[in-house]
Amino acid sequence: MKEYVNCSSCGAQFPASKIRCPYCGTAYEPAAEEEYMGKLEDIRTELDQHKTDADKSTVKSLVRAILIFVVVVAILLLLGLAANMLPNLGSRARQRENKEEFMQKYSVGTEEN
Ligand SMILES: [Zn+2]
Repeated sequence: MKEYVNCSSCGAQFPASKIRCPYCGTAYEPAAEEEYMGKLEDIRTELDQHKTDADKSTVKSLVRAILIFVVVVAILLLLGLAANMLPNLGSRARQRENKEEFMQKYSVGTEEN
């Protein structure tokens, strides 16, 4: 790799890393192309990085949604179990008693109407 190049227009010597001749401003193609390709590569890397970040956050929010769903379902199941179990806490005899009481009230109610 050459450190210095001669300007194709004015013949002045300048570092090969320069995009333009510092004396006449003529573009030095290899350096200009290299910078252009470098920028392209930067953009591509940046895009890939964004894509990876987006994928990560999508997975993260999906996992969070699933976790919330599981917790909600678990709570509903527990509430359902509790609702089903609570009447069983009393004795069956008492349940029958309550039922008879309800039936009596019901029939009394219909007789009154
Ligand atoms: Zn020049």
